[in-house]
Amino acid sequence: MAERSWSLANVFRGVFGNGGDREEALVDDDTWDELEIALISADFGPDIAESILGRLREQADRHRVTRVSELRLMLREALEERLAAYDPTLRLSESPAVILVVGVNGVGKTTTIGKLANYLGSLGKRVVLGAADTFRAAAVEQLATWAERARVDIVRPEQQGQDPASVAFQTVARASNEGHDIAIIDTAGRLQTKGGLMDELSKVRRVIEKQAPVAEVLLVLDATTGQNGLTQAEAFIEHAGVTGLVLTKLDGSAKGGFVLAVQEKTGLPVKLVGQGEGIGDLTGFTPHVFAAQLIG
Ligand code: GDP
Repeated sequence: MAERSWSLANVFRGVFGNGGDREEALVDDDTWDELEIALISADFGPDIAESILGRLREQADRHRVTRVSELRLMLREALEERLAAYDPTLRLSESPAVILVVGVNGVGKTTTIGKLANYLGSLGKRVVLGAADTFRAAAVEQLATWAERARVDIVRPEQQGQDPASVAFQTVARASNEGHDIAIIDTAGRLQTKGGLMDELSKVRRVIEKQAPVAEVLLVLDATTGQNGLTQAEAFIEHAGVTGLVLTKLDGSAKGGFVLAVQEKTGLPVKLVGQGEGIGDLTGFTPHVFAAQLIG
């Protein structure tokens, strides 16, 4: 997946400068204040911001760090190390590998599925999509449009409101029968009926597992909702057996710290990052690339 340059680093420009113009500047009290503000603005959340600052101060004292440029490197390394504590690899070795995609409406689930299908297709994988959000005709149509764009197959409900579990079942059956490598199942995201939705997702999962293990349950979160997105995540993590996270809408967002916050708060790895509405705007998650983009 393509590496892009994001505008994530913007919040740190005030502290570390732009293009080396503060390379020689000395660390003083203002630097620490500015760094704290930048960490909060980047949406690390107060707890993580405090722990990062505490450790950096200790390290800076120990190594008698005087230059802003050294502080920048220390922060980048610390961040990379914390981000890398989680394994971002997608587990797709089973055949078919079933990926269940969950999350509330509007976070970018369908778009992510389209981009992921296209990416996997470009690797030579045979992919089938399952439109298991059966109550919204528009959702099925939207997924069908992505299937066409990504040139992959799709299993659609025979009628609106068909049991989502039966669409998921048919999708995995088709993958097994026709030799698809990967089945990606879209699911509903009606938050107003949380209990019902969680029951529905459990049923979808149970029914799939009659034929094949579920390789990944990816929870899609909108990075622009920041810390609020974490509350939504909890119900899914508790009930849907989530194995990894997808963060969408990180393009043009200054909230890159949310990536670390979300990993540390949920204990789950970020496996994919969405950075635009186009078919190529999805990347895997690489801690050192991300840390460099964020800190500059
Ligand atoms: P769903 O309801 O969760 O399936 O969400 P959709 O896939 O329909 O996406 C909702 C909106 O977010 C659409 O307008 C998408 O184009 C947009 N979107 C999805 N992913 C991204 C992303 O990574 N960046 C940006 N800027 N927009 C995105």
